[in-house]
Amino acid sequence: MMTKLFLIPIVFIFGLLVGSFLNSVIYRIKNNQKIVFDRSKCPHCGHTLNWFDLIPFLSFVFLKGKCRYCQKPISWQYPLVELFTALIFILPLVAPNNFLPHNIFLPNFWQFFCYYILIVSVLIVIFVFDLKYYLIPDKILFLGILISVLFNVLLFREALINKIFGALLFSSFFLFQYLLSKGKWIGLGDVKLGALLGFILGWKLSLVNLFLSYLIGAIISIGLITLKKKTLKSEIPFGPILIIGFFVSFLWGNEIILWYFNLFS
Ligand SMILES: [Zn+2]
Repeated sequence: MMTKLFLIPIVFIFGLLVGSFLNSVIYRIKNNQKIVFDRSKCPHCGHTLNWFDLIPFLSFVFLKGKCRYCQKPISWQYPLVELFTALIFILPLVAPNNFLPHNIFLPNFWQFFCYYILIVSVLIVIFVFDLKYYLIPDKILFLGILISVLFNVLLFREALINKIFGALLFSSFFLFQYLLSKGKWIGLGDVKLGALLGFILGWKLSLVNLFLSYLIGAIISIGLITLKKKTLKSEIPFGPILIIGFFVSFLWGNEIILWYFNLFS
């Protein structure tokens, strides 16, 4: 346990840096720019930012959320994505789970952790993009599918049939609703996202993810209606809710299944 804990500060700082990169990926996908590791610019005045402007989170606090050069406000999205990326990165190190092996000196610890970091990064981009623009970019979805196929099939030697069945189960459930409602209940992006999440999870955990997402969706809807922020008919993007359900299922899905069946035994 001690060995895992000493990684926390390092992984947290790494998460802030990755979060900063993910913000620039979101910006570049939205503006149809190439995703390269060049210097970032202020979205308002186009001034190339210095290295000290790019220190995640802290620069936002010191500059009081304004650009150093044009004084225009910087979106809260930037520090929030940085902070949440860092927190989600350290989550499997601090919270007990069976996903990550205990011994950090085993090669499979690093294989699982790299896989987690890559998948989480892809899903954070999808989360923010869907929440902000009501759209899930295909590019980033395909990147997620590529990563999960490479890791699961080549490295982890997972049973491919379980993964494919998960993808089919998850996406066909949405495809059915998409066709039935002619795209009113659910978007085509959710169908594709379902295929990605289902492939990562396999069929059993896909069911947990679906169940949790509808539960979270219901809680959020009731909350918003009581606060009179939204009406029943107004659109809440389903992608971010699916992704929250995914994180829980990915890390603790098997424990949830065990807990559920123990209720009836
Ligand atoms: Zn500026």
